[in-house]
Amino acid sequence: MKIFEFLDKSPVNFLAVNTIKEVLEAAGFKHFDTTKPLSEVKAGDQFFVTKNDSSLYAFRIGSKPMAESGFHIICAHCDSPTFRIKPQGEMKCEGGLMKLNTEVYGGPIMSTWMDRPLSLAGRVMLRGKDALHPETRLLHIKRPLLVIPNLAIHFNRQVNDGVKLSKQKDMLPIIGIINEQLEGGVLLNLISKELNVEKQDILDFDLYLYDATPTCAVGLNGEFISSGRLDDLSMVHAGLEALLAANKSPEVTQVLAIFDNEETGSQTKQGAGSPFLSTMLQRIVLAQGGTMDDWFRAVEQAFMISADNAHAWHPNYSEKYDPTNHPQMGGGPVIKINAAQKYATDASSAAVFAEICREAGVPCQYFVNHSDVAGGSTLGNILAASLPLRGVDMGNPIWAMHSCRETGTLADHDFCIRAFTKFYDEN
Ligand code: ZN
Repeated sequence: MKIFEFLDKSPVNFLAVNTIKEVLEAAGFKHFDTTKPLSEVKAGDQFFVTKNDSSLYAFRIGSKPMAESGFHIICAHCDSPTFRIKPQGEMKCEGGLMKLNTEVYGGPIMSTWMDRPLSLAGRVMLRGKDALHPETRLLHIKRPLLVIPNLAIHFNRQVNDGVKLSKQKDMLPIIGIINEQLEGGVLLNLISKELNVEKQDILDFDLYLYDATPTCAVGLNGEFISSGRLDDLSMVHAGLEALLAANKSPEVTQVLAIFDNEETGSQTKQGAGSPFLSTMLQRIVLAQGGTMDDWFRAVEQAFMISADNAHAWHPNYSEKYDPTNHPQMGGGPVIKINAAQKYATDASSAAVFAEICREAGVPCQYFVNHSDVAGGSTLGNILAASLPLRGVDMGNPIWAMHSCRETGTLADHDFCIRAFTKFYDEN
């Protein structure tokens, strides 16, 4: 699946996991039910597991046992900053206007969500066979449905000098002019119609706003890619494409781990702070006839690429960047380094990744924070709490990280897929 289609089919975490699932199943990967015993695992087996419908872990088993060769893992995250619809979120205003009460998810650049056609996506829980087993249905409303209008400049002449936005007051989206009384409310009626289910069977939902304008190419030669959620779905897509392009009978086991909740600190059962992935890999070692000691040996020999986007040099703000390490758009994947160890990268793992890029014929560059700018963090070090892997933090250069629409390049995306494929194929 091409990157544009992948992004448009993945407006939020749940839908992203579903898109990955479809792609993997079409490529012959089996969905393993984690409640079943994992009794036998053979070389060449391809399968994946999910957690909470919002994280996914795919495995292609190598011909060498993990105790002998470790494993090659690429990590990325499928969540992005957005706004979640609160329970009892309907707020009726004058003139029949209806707005929705929302809560911020992660750290969006809030002003970029204004005056833009938005819509809703996520999951809906339906009454199941008993209270503990509700049925999950995904919801992706594919038409523009909401807008968060700005205040006109005439009411705030200082608007271009900077505006402080309140999450509770300024950021509530408007869903329409509704004059009739709808039994159960607007949202319940909308969901029931979209999913073709009875209103009384809808128990709850996780619904989020997303940018309803599709992904597009920008630039004189179409060199840029403009989309919501490039952080981190572009890295998810690159990892997925690499897994599909890589050797189907590898020596070393290949792993793709797509975590949820990176944007809120990763400390959930489906986030990188969870022992779920580590437990799943242990189950594979044991199913191969290995012991717990074999598992520890596997960890010692494994290598991780933690893939999360980096900040491309912005020509209007060059003072924000490190004077000697500021990655260029189109200059290839970026190795991220931080002396305070917010990134997993060290000289040893950076050397490995740079060498993989060289072998793949791909340029690579470095990002280090301007020393007076704090910078962000990512998956690599959080995962280290349950899986102490040798690994590198890297990502592709993008502008406007956490904007409703971010910008990257198609060239870097292609470079990244080539480097990742080479990594999976290494022995
Ligand atoms: Zn990210």
